[in-house]
Amino acid sequence: MTPVHSFASKRVAVFGLGGSGLVSAQALKAGGADVVAWDDNAASVKKAQEAGITAQDLRNIDWSKVAALVLAPGVPLTHPEPHWSVKLAQAAGAEVVGDIELFCRERLRLAPHSPFVAITGTNGKSTTTALIAHILRTAGKNVQLGGNIGTAILSLEPPAANRFHVIECSSYQIDLAPSLNPSVGILINLSPDHLDRHGTMEHYAAVKERLVAKSDVALVGVDDSYTEAIARRLAGRKDIQAVPVSASRELPRGTFVRGTQVVARGIKSSAQAEVLGDVSGIGSLRGRHNAQNAAFASTACWFSGLTSAEIERGLKSFPGLAHRMEQVGRKGAVLFVNDSKATNADSSAQALASFTDMFWIAGGKAKAGGITSLEEFFPRIRKAYLVGEAAKEFAQTLDGKVPYEISGTIDRALETSTRDAEASGLKEPVVLLSPACASFDQFRNFEVRGDHFRELVLKIPGVTPFK
Ligand code: ADP
Repeated sequence: MTPVHSFASKRVAVFGLGGSGLVSAQALKAGGADVVAWDDNAASVKKAQEAGITAQDLRNIDWSKVAALVLAPGVPLTHPEPHWSVKLAQAAGAEVVGDIELFCRERLRLAPHSPFVAITGTNGKSTTTALIAHILRTAGKNVQLGGNIGTAILSLEPPAANRFHVIECSSYQIDLAPSLNPSVGILINLSPDHLDRHGTMEHYAAVKERLVAKSDVALVGVDDSYTEAIARRLAGRKDIQAVPVSASRELPRGTFVRGTQVVARGIKSSAQAEVLGDVSGIGSLRGRHNAQNAAFASTACWFSGLTSAEIERGLKSFPGLAHRMEQVGRKGAVLFVNDSKATNADSSAQALASFTDMFWIAGGKAKAGGITSLEEFFPRIRKAYLVGEAAKEFAQTLDGKVPYEISGTIDRALETSTRDAEASGLKEPVVLLSPACASFDQFRNFEVRGDHFRELVLKIPGVTPFK
């Protein structure tokens, strides 16, 4: 844990006691703060009390004595409107911050120059974060991995000179961290998302920009117009080193993807191009989107002092993340891939662009627009196996273009798709679960859906788990 000392002997209110909120309360208490916490969920309150945290409805406390409100990232700060606890804090003049802010203040106190890599973007955050941590660990570095990817930042070991903190940040977390100043900040890409919580695209982009605005080294994508505008703004700054990153074109200065190679040009003194890594033949990094993730990860590790040989070694051994084009197993030539995280058509497009002969399991709880936007990939789909509520709608879109069956369930879809893939005689037929739908009609969440698929695949006689 990282005890938080910046509020020692001061009164701090904490709202939201799910995972990271409870850890914040504990870290503040360990650092000597007088903590009072609350949550609308009675079970979370009880759990906090059992962990020794004082709980009280924050509507009934004396706010004049409160120095700060620490807000869990899931609680609205601004949109659609500020949560009542935020209004009470603001009326009393107390600052409103989140756990990443508390970490940054602790880092400033303990080890202001410690390596701290922070990652954000609309897509690819978790993959890039996990990949950076993996490459650094493979090179023998001491790495703490957390933030939005799972482990609350304050449950990690405290900042120290030779300890890398590799932290995924959501826009909500950035919004609550005004002094976020990583040694390497990464903004991968931006597209409209979470606008319910940010109001407009402009506000969403402005929040994301804050992660790189105070970084020592700022790695910013230039493959979409939103990040490109940010990269252009940062390029004029003398106080930070801004590096543009592209997966779609060669840059005169920056890092970019050339074929399967990640190339840096004109960054560290020399104008020479230097190959930082190569994703060719790496199954966990298939697809252009993963080349983008690999370009950011390689550049971040290069700035962290790793050699291209070390980066290469880390890329090659990256196991990938569960549910994101996760290679589950093989039976003869057939490859089974779990892409359950693809809960909309845009995400499925990444997987459909990454393979050539697919037996595609899709469907679930439909999103607006369905799969009409995926038409360019239809020629690669040998057959589709449709499940869940969206099956009929998807069938209409595919009709006359792609052979399909309405399988109903993933169990049934897997059975017939495996049989068809084996009988196809293709070089590498891929049985792909990439639903382009939410899971809630048949599963609790996308993880449970993907776990179910993986278990079923591994039970098929003759399947060897992917190593
Ligand atoms: P995040 O943490 O931002 O949600 P993940 O790394 O978990 O991103 O990837 C989630 C899904 O987003 C992947 O399954 C893939 O479909 C898509 N994706 C991953 N990386 C990128 C990228 N760089 N650009 C566009 N889409 C991506």
